[in-house]
Amino acid sequence: MAKYLKHGMDAETVQTNDTKVREIVEGILGDIEKRGDAAVRDYSGQFDKWVPESFRLSEEQIKACYERLDKSTLADIRFAQDQVRNFAQIQRDSMLDVEQETLPGVFLGHKHIPMNSVGCYVPGGKYPLVASAHMSVATAKVAGVKRVIAAAPPFNGEPNPAIVVAMDMAGADEIYCFGGVQAIGAMAIGTETIAPVDMLVGPGNAFVAEAKRQLFGRVGIDLFAGPTETLVIADDTVDGELCATDLLGQAEHGVNSPAVLLTNSEKLAQDTLVEIEKQLQTLPTAEVAGKAWEDYGQIILCDSYEEMVQVADEIASEHVQVMTRDPNYFLENMTNYGALFLGAETNVSYGDKVIGTNHTLPTKKAARYTGGLWVGKFIKTCTYQRVTPEASAMVGEYCSRLCALEGFAGHKAQADIRVRRYGKKEISE
Ligand code: NAD
Repeated sequence: MAKYLKHGMDAETVQTNDTKVREIVEGILGDIEKRGDAAVRDYSGQFDKWVPESFRLSEEQIKACYERLDKSTLADIRFAQDQVRNFAQIQRDSMLDVEQETLPGVFLGHKHIPMNSVGCYVPGGKYPLVASAHMSVATAKVAGVKRVIAAAPPFNGEPNPAIVVAMDMAGADEIYCFGGVQAIGAMAIGTETIAPVDMLVGPGNAFVAEAKRQLFGRVGIDLFAGPTETLVIADDTVDGELCATDLLGQAEHGVNSPAVLLTNSEKLAQDTLVEIEKQLQTLPTAEVAGKAWEDYGQIILCDSYEEMVQVADEIASEHVQVMTRDPNYFLENMTNYGALFLGAETNVSYGDKVIGTNHTLPTKKAARYTGGLWVGKFIKTCTYQRVTPEASAMVGEYCSRLCALEGFAGHKAQADIRVRRYGKKEISE
């Protein structure tokens, strides 16, 4: 039986926090609906102290951002984007259009069509999340989306140059500097100055994730990608120092970022607890990571690898770092996760920043029903069909009887007229 050596925050408190966020977001979105640009300006002033003449960046402003970055930073951003673009292209190439003759004279197919417009949110409250620009914008462009707009909040009172450059390099058609619910609302609902998009993508804090959730239906959303979560699955092949580093490395995302260690080694669990306290003495982001660990950190002790898989699937974590004798066992057996990081040699930070898999991943157990953002999320799989006259007459007879079974007279008439015309047959009532 799995045993908790350290428990996270209780479910009731998490629920109360969620309800508060839901109410705040509802109010802001309703106001943007009513007052458009004026509401966006007010909330940007209130939450970010940012009320520029225009939220959209001009070409000159974008160019000035390039000039503020040194050559090596530009090369690093380019390297990361190349990896993301390359893997997205490999995935795009795996999505084949199909057309098959499924019965004599019946041709069914599907075609992949990119969305016309998307809004990419790039978080920037606590850290300027440059990498999110590659993940959303570059991937949307590989998919073939025509209008890709990108938004990030101001950082230290101005547009963050590295984020702006990353958005531009990735191919964004319009770049905006605003954040939070007001950015999400403006892109989805539209204002006097911003044309609404068809889908919203990108990660963000609890407010951003909740705004996307509330707007789903009116626009598409990629997935529920809220505060970062990490699960480290480890056995006695690794040490407490490595586990502690990988837990705190993700806990630093925010004070509400869960970090969980799942292990079958009590010694490793104890060593990790000691190491976490030690590393928190020197980690520059210890204030955030330490609070996240205190409130949301967990250590769970299991008896077997089978039990570790079962508990990990229940947690359905966004990131799962596997550091065991046979990491492939978890690849073969786990069913609920955003992304797997197999072996001590790799880690979540590689995925977050550079390696090429997408870092926008499902949180709050959304991994039970979706994977992360990928090129396919920007593409609709739409079916079509055509039939020969002979096939129409044959299928029409089945259709006619099935329509009668359901009482659909109009549908039946659609089938019957074809049976008469192409099959030269009368349908008995
Ligand atoms: P953010 O850009 O998501 O949010 C900043 C905005 O939040 C601000 O612009 C402000 O308008 C708004 N805001 C702040 N306090 C508010 C309040 N009380 N009421 C209403 N709005 C408020 O940046 P962040 O806060 O740094 O969060 C980034 C988040 O993205 C982190 O939680 C991180 O874990 C998460 N993330 C998730 C993934 C994923 O794939 N799931 C990937 C990367 C990052």
